[in-house]
Amino acid sequence: MEEYDVVVVGAGNAALCAALAARENGVRVLVLECAPKEERGGNSRFTAGGMRVVYNGVDDLAKLIPDLSDEEKAGADFGIYSADQFFDDLGRITQYRINPDLAEILVRRSFDTMMWMRTKGVRFVPMYGRQAFKVEGKFKFWGGLTVESWGGGPGLVDALFAGAERNGIEVWYEARACELLRDDDGVKGVVVRREGKTIMVGAGAVVVACGGFEANAEWRARYLGPGWDLAKVRGTRFNTGEGIRMALNVGAMSYGNWSGCHAVGWDRNAPEFGDLRVGDGFQKHSYPFGVMVNARGRRFVDEGADFRNYTYAKYGRVILEQPGQFAWQVFDRKVTHLLRDEYRIKQVTKVTANTLEELARKLDDVDPKGFLEEIKSYNAAVQADIPFNPAIKDGRCTRGLAIDKTNWANKIDEPPFEGYAVTCGITFTFGGLRIDNNANVLDTDGRPIGGLYAAGELVGGLFYFNYPGGTGLTSGSVFGRIAGNAASRAARERASGAVG
Ligand SMILES: Cc1cc2nc3c(=O)[nH]c(=O)nc-3n(C[C@H](O)[C@H](O)[C@H](O)COP(=O)(O)OP(=O)(O)OC[C@H]3O[C@@H](n4cnc5c(N)ncnc54)[C@H](O)[C@@H]3O)c2cc1C
Repeated sequence: MEEYDVVVVGAGNAALCAALAARENGVRVLVLECAPKEERGGNSRFTAGGMRVVYNGVDDLAKLIPDLSDEEKAGADFGIYSADQFFDDLGRITQYRINPDLAEILVRRSFDTMMWMRTKGVRFVPMYGRQAFKVEGKFKFWGGLTVESWGGGPGLVDALFAGAERNGIEVWYEARACELLRDDDGVKGVVVRREGKTIMVGAGAVVVACGGFEANAEWRARYLGPGWDLAKVRGTRFNTGEGIRMALNVGAMSYGNWSGCHAVGWDRNAPEFGDLRVGDGFQKHSYPFGVMVNARGRRFVDEGADFRNYTYAKYGRVILEQPGQFAWQVFDRKVTHLLRDEYRIKQVTKVTANTLEELARKLDDVDPKGFLEEIKSYNAAVQADIPFNPAIKDGRCTRGLAIDKTNWANKIDEPPFEGYAVTCGITFTFGGLRIDNNANVLDTDGRPIGGLYAAGELVGGLFYFNYPGGTGLTSGSVFGRIAGNAASRAARERASGAVG
């Protein structure tokens, strides 16, 4: 049997933060990644690297981004994102279901955790491209999400792997953790399947950070409900709920919103799983500036209910519920310059037309008559006297429709018109394991399981119904760091004979 002080299962952001934090305490750390090296990094690698963090003004941002120039500071209104704003967002978005202890830790430790990541080699930059609009010559940031890792998700993961290598952390690829080894004193190791062989790896403590069950069609249908087997997976094919299953098998408590998940509008013709060459490019997040219609040609959701960050993660479910599980996003010339970069990728399902009638004919699988009637009544309901402003919730709405649009309502009347076909793309699942404030996994009686820690997507209790954009990575880093720290302390105590 191989022996390590801390074994970390998974090699995404949460796992690598756990491994780096554990290693700081001088213990021997092994990371198990079931993917081959070329596909390492989990969902974290597919991200844009957007991270929600508390900052009380540009001086805080300059600590996270020391190369922020005076010119950049003068050319942008970064605003602030206070702890109170972060708490408000987490409460409102999760309908006040979020576990208050986890929320407290996430918010209070977001800034210092990202400063710590800097010491491990991660670099941050302002998220100009996706989170700011130019208003009167100045970038104005919106939606509480201002910072991304340099190089996006791939840059983040590369920096963390480089940090792991520099710090002498061992990584095994194509090494799948299959079961946890537990006795009366708690978890003492992992059964690993590697190169066709089953091996036991002993550990002073284990951190499970191997993602949710979004890539497991059977579990999706079982826990999220009928139809979810049909969703496309936005990211890695390796997050199949194994970490959750292994922990439940040794007595862990299930926790959180097991029927809930993060899911978005995603290109209708995207592949079954994420494609690392395209990353998050299949998403289509500019719907607040247009309308979405279903197979009947009808709108089915308030596209402008809030800033994109606060609605995108729940609208995938709404699209899945439409006939045929698809929708078309429709824009006219007035707003196409506002569309995000992902609308200009090569692998896009797009049609253009010079008249609404031509567009109606080109929207595959949509009833043209229903669509033309819908646009007519929508256009008539737009309150055009309220000025349009994409950088604020402008209140430019429709009135009198069955489903009104609350902000950014423009008539669809200036050619050329553009349509983009989307379906539901699942990002990650919300249900998982229950942890305490040290990221120690709790058993079904609410007691900490010795030697077992958890971080990242598989932690339950953080997200319910919806999700504020950029929180997944921050939560993985915050709880990963805590888990790694606590696991290394537990391993040392065990080694010195203090416990079990
Ligand atoms: C397209 C896309 C865009 C996103 N954009 C953002 C964003 O900009 N900002 C943000 O905050 N969040 C974003 N997210 C969400 C974010 O990716 C997740 O919240 C976060 O990356 C989860 O990190 P993690 O470490 O828990 O899991 P992951 O990064 O998925 O890592 C899990 C790892 O575990 C491994 N694994 C699984 N099972 C086993 C096993 N049995 N044995 C060994 N290894 C195993 C997997 O191979 C993987 O490496 C996005 C997600 C996607 C898919």
